[in-house]
Amino acid sequence: MKIKLYDSYSRSLREFEPIKGNRARIYACGPTVYDYAHIGNLRTYIFEDTLRRTLEFFGYEVTHVVNITDVGHLTSDADTGEDKIEQGAKKAGKTAWEIALLYTEAFKQDLVHLNILQPDIWCRATDHIAEQISAIRAIEKKGFAYITTDGVYFDTSKLENYGYLARLDVAGLNAGQRVDIGEKRNTTDFALWKFSRKDAARQMEWDSPWARGFPGWHIECSAMAVKYLGEMFDIHCGGKDHITVHHCNEIAQAQVCYGTQLANFWLHGYFLETDQAKMSKSDGEFLRLASLVERGHDPLSYRYLCLTAHYRGDLKFTWQSLNGAETALNRLRAAVHAWGEPDNPDDQYLQQFRHEVYNDLNTPKALAVIWNLVKSNLAPARKKATILECDKILGFDLANWRPVVLEIPDTVKTLMALRTQARQARNWVEADKFREQIAELGYDIEDSAKGAVLRKKPLP
Ligand code: AMP
Ligand code: ZN
Repeated sequence: MKIKLYDSYSRSLREFEPIKGNRARIYACGPTVYDYAHIGNLRTYIFEDTLRRTLEFFGYEVTHVVNITDVGHLTSDADTGEDKIEQGAKKAGKTAWEIALLYTEAFKQDLVHLNILQPDIWCRATDHIAEQISAIRAIEKKGFAYITTDGVYFDTSKLENYGYLARLDVAGLNAGQRVDIGEKRNTTDFALWKFSRKDAARQMEWDSPWARGFPGWHIECSAMAVKYLGEMFDIHCGGKDHITVHHCNEIAQAQVCYGTQLANFWLHGYFLETDQAKMSKSDGEFLRLASLVERGHDPLSYRYLCLTAHYRGDLKFTWQSLNGAETALNRLRAAVHAWGEPDNPDDQYLQQFRHEVYNDLNTPKALAVIWNLVKSNLAPARKKATILECDKILGFDLANWRPVVLEIPDTVKTLMALRTQARQARNWVEADKFREQIAELGYDIEDSAKGAVLRKKPLP
């Protein structure tokens, strides 16, 4: 059995085979660190973590590179507007360097809380200015760059198949172009290097063969990916919003610099959506992982929720669905914990699980296999061994989970005792009154054959 992945470049499901030996080389576009990551961004990193874990589960050695965009990402994808980092710094009254560091650390913490494996290599755009300048020079030497009053641009009209990844109709875009493109020759041309403006001082800027300034957003990814993974590596991934601009531009740069399409597979995670239609960091108001924790949720419940949907479909976030995911995860944890010591995994269930994840990371179906296994009549030690094996991909850290012994306040204990008495006297109205009082203090009661159990409620 091979792993099959949906490659956005060929728009097809293809069997994965590393280019070189047994090593799978992955590059994932990292965060732009001008603010905290929102839970939508984190969905993409959960998908990429699932991909990496699946490749490792299969037996490949993985090199996983994630970049940190700490310069050059402008507020508009059309290469106009302000640098997001410089703008974020002004808003917070800190330096651009402080802002970048603060949100890089916050992002890494989020990954730890979600049990996302650390990449083998983190690389920051500002640490790779020389590599970016030399890639831009190569593009210029080959005649694909031109200079305007505000920067060095890539001439997309010179590349025959520019935009193939997104199946862009470049001629149509140019003909139908309505916004002012300034000195750009074509709508799809993009900045390789931007010059610092004389009238607005920048904190992050460097000398270059053209003028003092800073790199465009797209050149950092292709330059760093090549430095760490080579001119043609196995998998490049990111969120689906990167298909139309960022990844088309990375490919264009690679075609000119190295004569490759950069990666053999291009994978894209679909979006998490909230009630506000689209989740966007630049809109100011958004949900962070900390927002879920503040409401009493476990970050791994969010991981579970993400795995209930296929990565190639948008996922609507609701508090109700998060509660549902949390209940399911807690049931799974409690079951696994209660099964005692594991022995050997069951081949048949393992095979079914593999079949689903190797089929373009079909985690919803893989979870269904897990629940069938939980309900099956296999011996507990075997169930446990199988699930712990599958957890290498699911990443719920089931082996280390222990039930939390709740410190229940005395008032709640007293109310529980009164409720039990009322129930024994079959006084249901009275018993319900106590349940409500207990709920107001933040606890849910779950009645089961073994008696009543208290659970701390997530905040509404
Ligand atoms: P950014 O910090 O904006 O550069 O984005 C970091 C990653 O999150 C990129 O791979 C984006 O494609 C991805 N992303 C942005 N918004 C969402 C969303 N609502 N749902 C899933 N992924 C997203
Ligand atoms: Zn990128």
